Amino acid sequence: MRPSAWPSQCEVCRQWSEAGTHAARTGALCADCTSRFVAGGLRCPRCGVRLASEAPACGECLRDPPPFERTLCTVDYAFPWDALVVDFKFHGRVELAFALAALMTATVRAAAAPLPQWVLPVPLAAPRLAERGYNQAWELARTMARALGLHADASLLLRLAGGAHQADLGRAERQRNLRSAFIVEPHRRGALQGRRVALVDDVMTTGATAREAAATLLRAGAAAVDVWVLARTPQSQ
Ligand SMILES: [Zn+2]
Ligand SMILES: [Zn+2]
Repeated sequence: MRPSAWPSQCEVCRQWSEAGTHAARTGALCADCTSRFVAGGLRCPRCGVRLASEAPACGECLRDPPPFERTLCTVDYAFPWDALVVDFKFHGRVELAFALAALMTATVRAAAAPLPQWVLPVPLAAPRLAERGYNQAWELARTMARALGLHADASLLLRLAGGAHQADLGRAERQRNLRSAFIVEPHRRGALQGRRVALVDDVMTTGATAREAAATLLRAGAAAVDVWVLARTPQSQ
């Protein structure tokens, strides 16, 4: 995929950008829509959920702290991002990774948090990867890693096949379904020892997937895990 192959029409307002402008080069959203729909505001530093007032963590994270240290979240999973994510994930529009990852990279830069040694996608199980043809989290992870000068890897953390699709389950069932869903590639555990990891995903809903994946990485020897996610569902479920 070359930059020149991307559309220069804004995905939201349908305005065409002039060739050579930033929007034309990254595709997807024009500068106006980007500033309009990338809402600022307070989020829980741990899980990225919106907060009404500044606090070290949301109620959920205080009651049951997640294994990851912090979540950097760029947008709410709402208009127009929900439709873009669906196109990106389910309609084969893999080229949207460039624009979405550019927004996420800006979030990481603005946070000025410690950068990780590894940028890892939340993996898909092999059957789902075969069905979709690509892992949207990997497309984001590798694009971000390239922009930030970091190492991305799609084979350190693996997801085992089996179990129901997360979207069809309630919260408690999701957590049960995820138990032992992830493993660290046994021959590569050494690469993880004492390292900080950023775990990348497109959307965080309950956080159950990120919790389980982060716990797996920590058990395998990672020093710390951060989560970099494009979109957060507005309220923890
Ligand atoms: Zn626009
Ligand atoms: Zn939280």
